[in-house]
Amino acid sequence: MGKRLLCGCEDVSVEEVRRAWAAGHRDLESVKRFTGFGTGPCQGKSCLALVTRELLRLGATPGELAPFTARPPREPVALGALAGLDPGTLPVGHEGIPPDAPPRRPGPDGLRPLPSRADVVVVGGGVLGLSLAYELARRGTTDVLVLEQAYLNAGASGRNGGGVRAQWSTPTMIRLARRSLELCRRFAVDMGINVWFRPGGYLFLAPTAEQVARLEQNARLHAEHGLRTRVLDRAQALEIVPHLDPSRFLAASHNPDDGVVFPWPFLWGYAGKAEALGVQVRTFTRVTGFRRAGAALTHVETDRGAVACGAVVNAAGAWSKGVAALAGVATPNRPTRHEILVTEPLEPWLDPLVSLLGSGLYFSQSQRGELVGGMGDPAEPEGVSQGSSLRFLARFAGAITRLAPRTAGVKVLRQWAGCYDVTPDNNPILGPAGFGNFFQLHGLVGHGFMMAPALAELYADLLTGRGRDELFDRFPLSRFERGGAAREDFIIG
Ligand SMILES: Cc1cc2nc3c(=O)[nH]c(=O)nc-3n(C[C@H](O)[C@H](O)[C@H](O)COP(=O)(O)OP(=O)(O)OC[C@H]3O[C@@H](n4cnc5c(N)ncnc54)[C@H](O)[C@@H]3O)c2cc1C
Repeated sequence: MGKRLLCGCEDVSVEEVRRAWAAGHRDLESVKRFTGFGTGPCQGKSCLALVTRELLRLGATPGELAPFTARPPREPVALGALAGLDPGTLPVGHEGIPPDAPPRRPGPDGLRPLPSRADVVVVGGGVLGLSLAYELARRGTTDVLVLEQAYLNAGASGRNGGGVRAQWSTPTMIRLARRSLELCRRFAVDMGINVWFRPGGYLFLAPTAEQVARLEQNARLHAEHGLRTRVLDRAQALEIVPHLDPSRFLAASHNPDDGVVFPWPFLWGYAGKAEALGVQVRTFTRVTGFRRAGAALTHVETDRGAVACGAVVNAAGAWSKGVAALAGVATPNRPTRHEILVTEPLEPWLDPLVSLLGSGLYFSQSQRGELVGGMGDPAEPEGVSQGSSLRFLARFAGAITRLAPRTAGVKVLRQWAGCYDVTPDNNPILGPAGFGNFFQLHGLVGHGFMMAPALAELYADLLTGRGRDELFDRFPLSRFERGGAAREDFIIG
């Protein structure tokens, strides 16, 4: 029998929706991510009702099938048309932006019970929390509970560009990123899930003499660490990406071993393997407070009851400041929205992820042919917001069509946003704070995805007494009492 299609744009069949259900995905946001339904040009207009009907048939309750957040633009629109808008006339910040619909929690049938106690409770089921849970379990600490307030991939880990690069400007970042790249290359085999790792390299474009000098300095450091980074003149850069306007930059740097992954299966891979080793992951469970006795946290309170704990890890990303505050611990994190978009698929034309230094612009081409790109906005105010703006579309479209005029005819399919978890020195906050058993794992700004695999190994070593990397002495919360660490400033976006 032929396959019965529910989503024509993305070729999603009834069987795939059933597989998603069998894998534990009940809410529409999760089923959308697992199958890809509703992410094509029609944005769910033709398939949402069909998938909803199938999930109801399988046993979902009407309450948990609230439609997923509709993503702008309402219909595909060319970058060239958007580039004609003047960003200066469009509202800055979160003004007038409808927030994402709050995720609907499955009914009691869809929720697994909470254990009464766990040796380690991890707050936050993003890439940092899940990778740590997996690495702890691999080291024999399996009584680990991960609590996630929404579905997996609801936070920045499900909303990012998937870029993984070793082209950094400090030995520490190079060391972590190289290890992460190594783990990314093996991820599909080790974790049994395809993360579409594409080692197309990163191409940094330097539009000023000062930035050229910076790339040259970085390249010398990279050579010392065995990276294959080369500084290129304009003609050499055009050999790698022929459609760039060479008047927009002076020189470039390229490391062919950097790459891009598809974030969603990365999280499912970590969660699935961690659970197979004994970790418990509970979605739709929000941490609401802590109980303490003397210098220790004794219980984690949630909207589904309390859990006694040996240790607690705060891996709540942009929400980590709020989670720390629940324990009375103040952190200097500044969550800041960062927007991103995807276009219609094109024939293959772009190998590396391209980043234009100084502008915040970056873009890559996915294995399915879409351009995926984002751009930071210096005017963005602090705050957790995952809504999308027209100002971003105008700014991004202007920047990319100036740099690669060929993109003017390419249509934007979908935009979305997540938050960078920014600290004053752009470095993470690691180790215990406030209580001897309250561990911090946040403040990864715009590079937490690529650092997570390597950082999780080191963190698990620390928590299981296997070793203490120098990172934990350099990046405790207490460093801010002394003015912070040396600022990390080779950040994209
Ligand atoms: C648009 C964009 C592009 C990016 N591009 C890249 C890139 O190319 N490469 C890269 O390396 N990084 C990139 N980043 C950064 C990267 O996504 C983050 O650094 C990383 O995902 C952080 O992971 P996390 O686990 O700390 O946070 P999250 O993924 O946000 O996870 C935290 C989780 O905690 C949950 N939570 C919060 N409060 C509670 C509570 N009270 N109880 C229970 N759960 C709670 C949240 O729901 C969330 O799922 C990008 C980020 C954005 C927004």
